Amino acid sequence: MAVTNLKCRECGEAYELTAQYVCHKCFGPLEAAYDHSTLGSDPSELKRRIQSGPQNIWRYVDFLPLEQGQPGPSARQLSRVGLPAGCTPLVKADRLAERLGLGEVWVKNDAHNPTHSFKDRVVAVAAARARELGFDTLACASTGNLANAVAAAAAALGMPSYVFIPADLEEQKVLFTGVYGTNLVKVNGNYDDVNRLCTEVSGERESWAFVNVNMRPYYAEGSKTLAYEIAEQLGFRTPDRVVAPIASGSLYTKLAKGFDEWRALGLADGDAPVMNGAQALGCSPVATAFEAGTDVCRPVKPDTIAKSLAIGNPADGPYAVELANRSGGSIDSVTDDEIRDGIRLLAETTGIFTETAGGVTTATLAKLAERGDIGRDERVVLVITGDGLKTLDVVRGTFEAHEIEPRFDAFESALGVTA
Ligand SMILES: *Cc1c(COP(=O)(O)O)cnc(C)c1O
Ligand SMILES: [Zn+2]
Repeated sequence: MAVTNLKCRECGEAYELTAQYVCHKCFGPLEAAYDHSTLGSDPSELKRRIQSGPQNIWRYVDFLPLEQGQPGPSARQLSRVGLPAGCTPLVKADRLAERLGLGEVWVKNDAHNPTHSFKDRVVAVAAARARELGFDTLACASTGNLANAVAAAAAALGMPSYVFIPADLEEQKVLFTGVYGTNLVKVNGNYDDVNRLCTEVSGERESWAFVNVNMRPYYAEGSKTLAYEIAEQLGFRTPDRVVAPIASGSLYTKLAKGFDEWRALGLADGDAPVMNGAQALGCSPVATAFEAGTDVCRPVKPDTIAKSLAIGNPADGPYAVELANRSGGSIDSVTDDEIRDGIRLLAETTGIFTETAGGVTTATLAKLAERGDIGRDERVVLVITGDGLKTLDVVRGTFEAHEIEPRFDAFESALGVTA
């Protein structure tokens, strides 16, 4: 395995691959570091290995922070336990491109995962590492989709789980979590309150793996598989531009890390993509910082229909701002009405029904197109992270249904169609 240690993103201090997430020296966040030279230097051999792997994220196990011992678990062994995530469709969205006056747009539909959001990727990696480290319980602080993914993964692995959510979450997400038999804890507060509580619980319960607290360095690496997949599906090439949502900023920054790793290894041709981040105006601390030309993200109290992105104090906010600048991208925010329009636009032009987070991403793509930020010759990938069935309430009232008596003339006059 290529993973070597955990490394502080601020001071570079190295740590062993344990369930640690904060640097003891400077309190910076820890991240997995790799020595990819152990994988050999022949890209075609590496590509062959990947392509002969299973149809899920474990085909990329060589690039994930699992098992330091030799040899590590094989992709096939990992595929036999838990809920296999990944290998979701990348579809060419010609009608969406046409509507927006763009040249080439692809939709990475990550709603096609076991619990219908990209969170199954990060949970699969965190849970696999938690098992290696001997934890007996899975837990998380969630804005909704993580709750679904942790509860389901724990059920699949036969582990007890504790899922902490803000009490005002969408009913669909609450039902979709409780059904797995988890210990569901509704906290009277917002996500940032839930996260603070979980940090405290995590300190007290040493045998619990909180996927996004003490296991966060492993969890975060799972998002890289989304970049690997996009590159592989484009024929081992990077896209020119990626539009992705930002909650804590983990997904957005790890997408770039994934592309960078593969470019350095000769596994992906092309430049580093321009990275556009997307937030809801009602919770846009990272977009606000970007706009102000600073990397200091001032915490906010979320007020938006995009609850899965409602993190007022984003852990990776400064790194997200830095990435937007470095890649020549931006971080934009959209209103709740624009989010609803984004959901409708994607549904009507691609047949893909996304949740509010995908509405944020699609509306941001529309905004970039309107602003003239995207060249006609660019290949753009829109990252859709969750399923519309999880946030059904927000599309209520956005369309009309024709209620009629069961007669042909009633149908004719209601729909205005004549023979
Ligand atoms: C969690 C989540 C994200 C992104 O979260 P980050 O904390 O920025 O990694 C995006 N979309 C959906 C639907 C999510 O549930
Ligand atoms: Zn440090």
